[in-house]
This record gives sequence, C-alpha cells and structure tokens, in this order.
Amino acid sequence: MKPIAKSSKLANVCYDIRGPVLDKARQMEEEGHKIIKLNIGNLAVFGLEPPEEIVQDIIRNLPAAAGYTDSKGLFAPRKSVVHYTQEKGIAGVTVDDVYLGNGASELIVMALNALLDDGDEILVPAPDYPLWTAAVSLSGGTPRHYLCDEGAGWVPDLDDIRSKITERTKGIVVINPNNPTGALYPDDLLRDIVELARQHQLIVFADEIYDKTLFDGNRHTSLAALSDDVLTVTFNGLSKNYRSCGYRAGWMVVSGDKRHAGDYIEGLNMLASMRLCANTPGQLAIQTALGGYQSINDLVAPTGRLCKQRDLAYERLSAMPGVSVVKPKAALYMFPRLDPKLYPIADDQDFAYELLADEKVLIVQGTGFNWPTPDHFRLVFLPNMDDLDDALNRIERFLGHYRKR
Ligand code: PLP
Repeated sequence: MKPIAKSSKLANVCYDIRGPVLDKARQMEEEGHKIIKLNIGNLAVFGLEPPEEIVQDIIRNLPAAAGYTDSKGLFAPRKSVVHYTQEKGIAGVTVDDVYLGNGASELIVMALNALLDDGDEILVPAPDYPLWTAAVSLSGGTPRHYLCDEGAGWVPDLDDIRSKITERTKGIVVINPNNPTGALYPDDLLRDIVELARQHQLIVFADEIYDKTLFDGNRHTSLAALSDDVLTVTFNGLSKNYRSCGYRAGWMVVSGDKRHAGDYIEGLNMLASMRLCANTPGQLAIQTALGGYQSINDLVAPTGRLCKQRDLAYERLSAMPGVSVVKPKAALYMFPRLDPKLYPIADDQDFAYELLADEKVLIVQGTGFNWPTPDHFRLVFLPNMDDLDDALNRIERFLGHYRKR
C-alpha cells in the first residue's frame, strides 16, 4: 500500500507545547504517575476558574445558541469589543472591523492565511508563542525571527528587527505582554516598532491576549493606539484574562488606514465565511466578560494568587545555581536561563524528557519557542503554592544531579 504522508505544507510546522514530551507525560499518567504540569497556560485546570457570571451566561444562553451566526460574529459582542478598543485608545474602530473566532488561535491562522504568498516573510519574535511561527509556515510564508534581548528584560532588539527586513517582509508580530517571557514593552519601544512598520509598510500583528494580566501596577498600551495609519490587527480573547480557555472565545480587530487594505480585508472576510462562524455560546460570553467584574485584578494584586505564585517561582529559581530569570511583569510564564557552563545541554527536548522521567515535572524546552540555543525553558506558574513549591523542589534536585554528571 502506498504510504499516506502528511502534506509538505506541514514540513516546517511545529508546536512543541503539545509535542512529544507531552505525549510521554500522558503515557506516564496512564501508567499511574502523578505529573506536575508546568507546561501549559490552561488556567481553569489549576483551580483558576472563570468568573461565575461567565459560566452562568454560557449555561443560560446554551439552549438559544444552537444556530450559526454572521461569519464575523454577533453584533452585541462585537460592539462590546468596539467599546473595549475605545477604552484602550484605538481610534476609528467600527463593528465591521471586529471578527470573533474560536479563540485567538483560529484568527491568527486566518490573518496569516489571508495575507501570505509562498516566500513572503513575517517578522516573528524569538522566543515566540510558537503558533505564530507555525501559522506563518503553514500559510506558505517564511518566519524571520527577531531576537528579544534577555539582558534588557526580554524586549525586542530593534536593530535586529531592522536587519531582518527584506523586500519580501509583509508584517511584524508583536506579542505584548509576552508569552513565554512575561515581558511588558515600554511605550517608547512600541512607538519605534510602529515607526519601522510605517517606514517599511508592514502590517502589525499585535497579540495582546494577556493585556489584563499585569503585575506590580503595570499598565498596558495597545500598539494600535499608537497610530491612526499603520494597518494593525490586534488579537485578544477570554482565554487568559477571563480564565476561559475552553470556551474558545477570541477576537481580532483591524485598525489603522484601511483604504489600501481592501483586498486583504476581502480575504479575511472570505476565510471567516468559509469557517461559518465562531461557536455561539463563546461569542455571547464576550459581552458579559468585558462588561463584568474584572476579577483578574484580584489575582494579580500583591496579595493575589497569581502574583504570589509568580514571586515564589521567581525567587526560588533565581536562588538556584546557574539559573537566571527575568521577573515577569505580566502573563503567566517565565523563561529561565540555564548557564551552559553548569548545564551543558546539547538537546533541550532531552533535558525536558529527563526532568519528566526523573522528577515527574513537565516543562517546555526553550527551543520549542524558537529560541535558537538549548539553554532556556518555559515555566508556567499556575499551580497553587504547595504544588508549585513541590515542583520547584524537584527542579532544584534535578538540576543538582545534572550539575554533578
Ligand atoms: N496568543 C498567545 C500569546 C497565547 O499564549 C495563546 C495561548 O496560550 C494564544 C494566543 C491562543 O489563545 P486562544 O485560547 O484565544 O486561542
């Protein structure tokens, strides 16, 4: 029989957050092992549940939400997104500019598919949330990774961005607040990125899904609020700020000067139509979430659970020999560095396997986030204080053994 091979479109597509190390962890769980999962930003499974009003809303609306909606989504939740953009200072957005999706993920893939021809280039951060690199590749594009500077708090290196712009560069992805580093970018830097985009006529893809998950009283500025002209597609949703990953409710907003982007917008509309619509109960929850009690603020406050867990993970990791970590200002992650002199890691996926096998702790290796060298990993600080402390003890013990090898 002729083998059935996967499409060559998938040749450069990779998503290690749900990759082979997770498969191994699942197998170990089936064998009866308890695994501490520091690998995925899935809040509800750690007891960080959605606001009750959202759950009630989904339950109440379910019987009446069995039909398809308009491809871009229902009017009322899109209107609430328009109001949200206004609050964030993004000019000129109308309901027509808002697309609802089954999470931001679906819209990210759509936005790139509608844009890219084979060989077109998109600037993507390194490290990145790997869906972006994967979606660029799947769309036939070429991801060109620009470095974020760990020494400067993981902010994008503007010179590196500049050096990677070519005639084929169509857009730049900015993930702010950032997954996997927890960085939050200063306004000056965002302005410089907007200026670069303006000069080189790049579309800006602003992934702002953590824009309310901010520690230490930090504020978030939307990239789209910094210009009226640069075409900007902003992504957000309920998954993180409202702890509703499973409801698959996200949105995308097109802003800036749209006069020259009619063809691209037609492409977006076509792809939105092809997938009919986002799930209707999830759409209906958006309005309730945006207009409701913002309980994320309690979790990120100095006495809040997320803030305490961030502090614990940061303090414990920083105290481990040869481990350095930038303290996250936002989001749910940190991206610690392992000094190669103490930890000569040749393959960081193997490192993740070994940590899993020896200590039953699941992390994701840094190269899974398109980081170029095997000397980082991503840790999710979502488990409660006891579980997190336990996991950190295990990581410490594992690193101790690793150094002595
Ligand atoms: N963007 C970033 C930076 C993320 O971290 C995630 C999920 O982890 C997503 C997008 C996807 O979110 P959604 O659940 O809305 O598809």
